[in-house]
Amino acid sequence: MHEYLSEYDFPPYRPPNEANSALIRITRGCPWNRCEFCFMYRDTKFQTKPLEEVKKDVKKARQIYRAAQSIFLGDSDNLVHKELPEIVAFIRKIFPDIRRVTAYARAKTILSRKMEFLTAVRKAGLDRLHIGLESGDPIVLEWLCKGVTPEEVIEAGRKAKEAGFEVNFYVISGAGGKMRWKEHALNSARVLNKIKPDFIRLRSLTIKEGTPFKEKLEKGEFVITPPLERLKEVQLFVKNLDLERCFLASDHMTNFLWAGNAFFYRGVAGDLPRDKKVMLKTLRKALDFIESTELEVKDSNQLLKEGFITAL
Ligand code: SF4
Repeated sequence: MHEYLSEYDFPPYRPPNEANSALIRITRGCPWNRCEFCFMYRDTKFQTKPLEEVKKDVKKARQIYRAAQSIFLGDSDNLVHKELPEIVAFIRKIFPDIRRVTAYARAKTILSRKMEFLTAVRKAGLDRLHIGLESGDPIVLEWLCKGVTPEEVIEAGRKAKEAGFEVNFYVISGAGGKMRWKEHALNSARVLNKIKPDFIRLRSLTIKEGTPFKEKLEKGEFVITPPLERLKEVQLFVKNLDLERCFLASDHMTNFLWAGNAFFYRGVAGDLPRDKKVMLKTLRKALDFIESTELEVKDSNQLLKEGFITAL
């Protein structure tokens, strides 16, 4: 066994809304690790941590995060851990007052798990799954090498909901590139309308060095969606969402658009369907700004290139 497993081991990534959560790592890396845009666990060999090691970390976490109201489990796909029900039950025992326990999950892994396992995890006290849809367009999913089809994601989302989980889906704005932004927007809305998630979170495609997607970009096999089309893509996506109760968030700095030294757009957020009109108004305003400004409009790819952002 590696020595680091006996040390307290933080998950390196967590959703932005889990910033105040106690972080507990029960796996390391990603068992898929092939999504071409993803840089997160590229150099990490996937491992599930033994139950006893996790229990030690949970006890240490209790000392570290005395005021935590929620817990996030890392890394990217914890449903692969066969002892997850025991782990979650132990966490709930050590943190009896915690309000929420959440984790990332891959759609494909949800599909591969028996309903009895999922309900056991849910009953033990895991409340919410964060799942990457990225795009509902089958061709875009292939470009991204996501390893899952839109119909499989629909099935996985429905299965997770049936097991009693709240589900949060991520969509990557710009994933369709200049050539496929309309299909990306329409098909992503179509998939989410079928799943009826509790939360949708938007990120914007930001292509980092060292990822296969960067090579695609350099070879001209992919063209980044320019800011104007990216806003039109979000507009088309939001217009086509038909959900009765869902919170849409754009809680990531990659969503910001800048002109000169100031940002003029930071994404759209709100309760659907109630806030749809406000979101569309925000998008219209940002589109009008781009169409009228003489300043250069910059997105997260440009800021990354210029060194203004480093961590994502
Ligand atoms: S996006 Fe998620 S599933 Fe894909 S390689 Fe990265 S961590 Fe793994």
